[in-house]
Amino acid sequence: MTNKSQKALNFISNILNQYEDAESTQELILEYIQNIFENEKTYVFFISPNGLYLKSSVGCTEEENFMLQKVNEMGILTRKFVKEQKTLLENTQAIVKEMGLKDTEGKTFLVSPLKIKSAIFGVLVLEKYGVFQFDKQDIEILDVFSAVSAYVIKDAELSDVFKIQLKILQENIIEKTEAVQVIKEKNKQIMEANQVKDEFLANISHELRTPLNAIVNSSDALKMEVFGELNPKQKEYINDINASAIHLSGLINEILDMSKIEAHQMFLTCSDFIIASAIDEVVNVLRSSAEKKSITFKKNYSDIDAEIHADFKKFQQIFYNLISNAIKYTPDNGQVEIGFSDEDDNYVFYIKDNGIGIDEKYHGKIFAKFQQIENIYTKNSSSTGLGLAITKEFVEMHNGRIYIESKVGEGSTFVFEIPKNI
Ligand code: ADP
Repeated sequence: MTNKSQKALNFISNILNQYEDAESTQELILEYIQNIFENEKTYVFFISPNGLYLKSSVGCTEEENFMLQKVNEMGILTRKFVKEQKTLLENTQAIVKEMGLKDTEGKTFLVSPLKIKSAIFGVLVLEKYGVFQFDKQDIEILDVFSAVSAYVIKDAELSDVFKIQLKILQENIIEKTEAVQVIKEKNKQIMEANQVKDEFLANISHELRTPLNAIVNSSDALKMEVFGELNPKQKEYINDINASAIHLSGLINEILDMSKIEAHQMFLTCSDFIIASAIDEVVNVLRSSAEKKSITFKKNYSDIDAEIHADFKKFQQIFYNLISNAIKYTPDNGQVEIGFSDEDDNYVFYIKDNGIGIDEKYHGKIFAKFQQIENIYTKNSSSTGLGLAITKEFVEMHNGRIYIESKVGEGSTFVFEIPKNI
């Protein structure tokens, strides 16, 4: 083996051992070629559908590079070379002229195809100053270099494709990030608008509650004939006024509670109190509406002296909502059972009725705001569908949980737990 081929072999094994990324390896190969052939310039031309253009070079000025970057249509000789795919020693002056190299006088060229399998995609050109005779062995060595370079160059090309794809991806991500930013901004505006709505609702509910309370109180007094006897028509009207005002104030209270919850303005005020008495007070308030439907109450308290640390008003509100629903959705002569037990770290409460029941498919939904299941009772009532949503919020504010066991036609049991240490 000659010195030259020994050197070439060493270079190639170096290239393959040091291979890190395609682009720097490609530069390395061109430099190795110059080192072995001691030529002044090396060019890599690419073949495009419109002709040849310079892809990279070593030893050229910027101006030379610039001149060669425009695409040169393939001449007859180049076409022949592309077809035959062989490294050329002769006629090289003419062929490099076709590729766009102008100043060829007194120089020697070696032209080698860059191909993968039998697909030629470029040309490797060596330019050596002076009239010089490359020999067969040079061709063999260059062929090996061309074969290695072809793969590396194609690899670099592919990594270019990946880079373009990466760039597109990055642009997409930027676009998406900008979109997310816009959405965030809009969200903020919505939240602010929501806050204004909540404040408005809280104010308006307050404004409505004051006159309504006056109507409830004065119609109560009239009903009780505090200011003198009423005739039957007056009695009938004042009863209607009183009932409607109480109903309306219930609805307004629910809306006010919900808007406070949503505005995070609802807080707990906890104290220790006796569970049984707190529940009994609620039962007494609702007794008359139960009696109207001949519904009886059944109590099942595990310990009538048991105390809980909770928000008294909210605790009673939970019972009020669940017991009034039990009465509302239970036909005449039904029964509502209320009970609680002490279970390790929790108190477990339940309100059980033998009313219309709730289809299992609605069990997950009824605790959401404004969720009402159409039935004979909801059809004519002007309820808001907020009662259970508020109830759930109040239970959760106590770090508790609420769930339902119910079957259509068999009644419903609402169970909720409140930890002893909230
Ligand atoms: P509403 O104001 O309509 O009573 P709620 O949030 O209190 O709103 O209840 C939501 C829905 O759950 C009701 O419309 C009703 O269909 C159903 N529901 C609640 N409690 C019961 C119950 N004890 N028995 C049957 N259905 C019930």
